[in-house]
Amino acid sequence: MGWAVSWKIFTERFKIKSMLNLVLFGPPGAGKGTQAERLIEKYHLVHLSTGDILRQEIKAQTDLGMRAKKIMDRGELVPDEVVVGMIRTRLEQSGEVSGFIFDGFPRTVAQAEALDELLSGLSIKISLMLSLEVEKQELISRLLLRGKLMGRSDDQDVRVIENRILVYNRQTAPIIDYYTAQGKHVPIQGNGSIDEVFERLTEAISLL
Ligand code: AMP
Repeated sequence: MGWAVSWKIFTERFKIKSMLNLVLFGPPGAGKGTQAERLIEKYHLVHLSTGDILRQEIKAQTDLGMRAKKIMDRGELVPDEVVVGMIRTRLEQSGEVSGFIFDGFPRTVAQAEALDELLSGLSIKISLMLSLEVEKQELISRLLLRGKLMGRSDDQDVRVIENRILVYNRQTAPIIDYYTAQGKHVPIQGNGSIDEVFERLTEAISLL
């Protein structure tokens, strides 16, 4: 093996070890966005939230945004190709970073597989999937409160919220098995104060 090849293998191994790439997982209202902000600050990660990117598209009234809004207002999922494309672009545009935090993505097993493929092309890996667990009734009250405070249209109607939770259970929760098989799934109790939940998350990360 030539020295150039050995060096490439060495630097790629080093990159895999030193980067922190987190999937922050959980049903709508579990506190992913709030905790993501704090994790970013502590670990200097790049935030990749497909929900935020879609809302920026809606605000800018792009074609994609207008099509996505109709789906989001029903509480359904935007097609896999659309969100995978958005993540691909952002991953390719990012230079040297300490790591990524994926928030609200992946949301289907197909997206999780596409993410692994994208990351393997960049010689990086998911370190952990941190899964926030919160009971349904608590989720509904948190989302209704957020709807009042932030004016998000998909947080204002109980039927839409119920549908988002149903979609989560049917299409998104199966991803837990995908990451469990890779030994990366860590359940985190999502009840309690923001500080308490953050402490549980950082403890799980410290065990890496
Ligand atoms: P969020 O802000 O993560 O709760 O996402 C709000 C809405 O955007 C969701 O209810 C979906 O309609 C859409 N969305 C966000 N991320 C994804 C994704 N990874 N796959 C499909 N749809 C998504």
